[in-house]
Amino acid sequence: MKRDERIQIMQKNLLAWYRVHRRDLPWRRTRDPYAIWLSEIMLQQTQVATVIPYYERFLKEFSTVQALTNSPLDRVLKLWQGLGYYSRARNLHRAAQIVVSEYHGKFPQTTAVLNSLPGIGRYTAGAIASIAFDLDEPVLDGNVERVLCRVFRIKMSPKETATHKKLWTLARTIIPTGKACFFNQALMDLGATICTPRRPACERCPLRDICQALKNNEQNDLPIKKRRPPSPHYDVAAGIIWKNNRILIDQRKPQGLLGGLWEFPGGKREPHETLEECLIREVREELAIEIEVGEKLTVVKHAYTHFRITLHAFECRYRTGRPQAVQCADFKWVKLAELENFAFPKANEKILSVLRQKYATQSAPAIAATHPEL
Ligand code: SF4
Repeated sequence: MKRDERIQIMQKNLLAWYRVHRRDLPWRRTRDPYAIWLSEIMLQQTQVATVIPYYERFLKEFSTVQALTNSPLDRVLKLWQGLGYYSRARNLHRAAQIVVSEYHGKFPQTTAVLNSLPGIGRYTAGAIASIAFDLDEPVLDGNVERVLCRVFRIKMSPKETATHKKLWTLARTIIPTGKACFFNQALMDLGATICTPRRPACERCPLRDICQALKNNEQNDLPIKKRRPPSPHYDVAAGIIWKNNRILIDQRKPQGLLGGLWEFPGGKREPHETLEECLIREVREELAIEIEVGEKLTVVKHAYTHFRITLHAFECRYRTGRPQAVQCADFKWVKLAELENFAFPKANEKILSVLRQKYATQSAPAIAATHPEL
């Protein structure tokens, strides 16, 4: 069968399959570019089931791009809490401001301009353009890559630049004229529900007659995976610093990993340093105060995209010095019950939950009284 013929069958079968099997997702009940943009940003690196409640809560509070613009970033981060990859929330807020100030609150309709907004890459630009504006623009995410590598039997890693480029060209070539909106979503759904990374359900696949990987029994071998080097591991110490029944928290600088989020002060252990020495040094560098390190509260293991940490949380007592935001954006002394008003990274959330459990039956003054040694 010739390639063009295969592409035609692919278009026809995929669209017919989508009409029957499309997933009913909240963002598919609208053509509002703002809502579609929001869903696409949330779906980057995150499963559909996790995204749905966040998407609904977000739209309830910020029903328009103007409403999002008017909100302080802190509130946006708080609503994002638990979804991870917080740079997405910061970029969302910045992009909303640009849409309102430079485009009068209307989303630009070309992929080039969409692509220039913070947090919108080539995939997201293509998704918004095709789904919200009905433009014949391609999309290429992990799901689409997998389907294309299998159907067209591409035996090179999609992470290689040349292969990636080739896949983008292919994703554009296969779009049926005027139908990118449904075709792209069909490809995404097929990758998410049938042509899954492991054990694809080829027997139920609308592309089984033209799939070159299936024909060669290579569906479990494609796409070719590029070996990743093992991610480094760091020990990190964090302090629950008590003073007069309040706890000291600080806010990370807006740039960089977890920017704008609040956390318990601390940082990465240097070689030849004990965790306690590390904590005293980090708190001194971050906030210019001296502390006394007490008992270990808990240990949390957490994996980020490029590294893993073991976070050791200690209860500490404030000793001397006036806190200053030396290596952080801000700091606050807050009561235990007030901590829920701040957005914390996931690893800190686990500390919070241990902390709440430990003091569930004690009021804040009792905590201080039961820890005279701290
Ligand atoms: S036949 Fe199997 S490998 Fe090929 S596209 Fe369908 S699910 Fe994927």
